[in-house]
Amino acid sequence: MSSLPVETARKEIEEVVNGSVNIEEQLERDVDQMCTLLSVLGAGRFSGVDISTTRLESLRKKFIEVYWILKLHLLFHLGSTIAVKHKNLKELGSLLGLTNADLDRLPGKEHAVDPGSKILEILSDLVEDHGLGQRGSQTHANDVMLRAKYLFCGLRSNNRFRPKVLAVVTDHDRWYVGSSISVSPFLRPLCLHRRIFRFKGNLRKAVIFDESLVTADPKDWSSSAFQKKGYTAEKDPCLNCKRMFKNLKGFILNDDHSAKVSSTFLGACAEYVPVNELLTPDEEASSEHDARIRSALKASVDRCAMLFEGYREIVDECDKAHGGNDDERIKRAYRKVREKIHIFGYKPQCKFEN
Ligand SMILES: [Zn+2]
Repeated sequence: MSSLPVETARKEIEEVVNGSVNIEEQLERDVDQMCTLLSVLGAGRFSGVDISTTRLESLRKKFIEVYWILKLHLLFHLGSTIAVKHKNLKELGSLLGLTNADLDRLPGKEHAVDPGSKILEILSDLVEDHGLGQRGSQTHANDVMLRAKYLFCGLRSNNRFRPKVLAVVTDHDRWYVGSSISVSPFLRPLCLHRRIFRFKGNLRKAVIFDESLVTADPKDWSSSAFQKKGYTAEKDPCLNCKRMFKNLKGFILNDDHSAKVSSTFLGACAEYVPVNELLTPDEEASSEHDARIRSALKASVDRCAMLFEGYREIVDECDKAHGGNDDERIKRAYRKVREKIHIFGYKPQCKFEN
């Protein structure tokens, strides 16, 4: 550490400062747009009705999960007053039937989910309820994709919550749609951790140990992903996904590894949730493996908690050092925060288990 180049320290400090300022400036508008998206999706249907069916209640819970992650972003970046008083979010909460106590309540780590995937789950339910195809069928997936593109295009292109990529993955004529994680970079480690935690055993293991996915039935896969404004441009899987899914026959059409270094995070791309849906429950892992996975997950959640709880302090530290020309001060600040930001889900070069 004594030979730490000041350029590295300055660059990373700047990244924290600019990242946080950027979000703070745009966040309320981004949340407003998400509230509009959720009303287009029909958040109003829960207002004043007796939630008599479990189906309706389960749908409502998914909307409420999106409400909480939006509120968590406001709390995290802008503080508790804005989180509670944000006009459109509060109205959304009322529409969803939350009590006054809930509307005043502050969210916590447990509310860190990926809103894009949650919205796809809602769409999936709605398409099925409208009789437009059974989950897993091609017609269902096509309809979910069409509606997802339409909805996400209603958000400004840099909206924090707008997925950069949507993907459809198939295996033996079963079809699923997925989205890349799109949240604040400072909340991403936690959202990503929670996504990976829920993966089936073999996918979770592959992500944690950074190895290619192995499955009992690797035949007959395909995937296509879309990005850019309107999700019109088809894209190849990123370098990380090419390695992760190389054993799935048909998944990767262009096996060109000459692309530059991947800046994506294992588990965060749009392909993962659909692959997870399509995987058959896997064979038992050995107990030794289980122990290693458990300890990797525990270590990861502890690191996520450090960033989550230390965020304000990290930003303040970086803020104070930034702007001045005091090299020693920059280095000192960087040494203080480095351990908290060099974690999987924040820095692309950091692995899950390191
Ligand atoms: Zn990828």
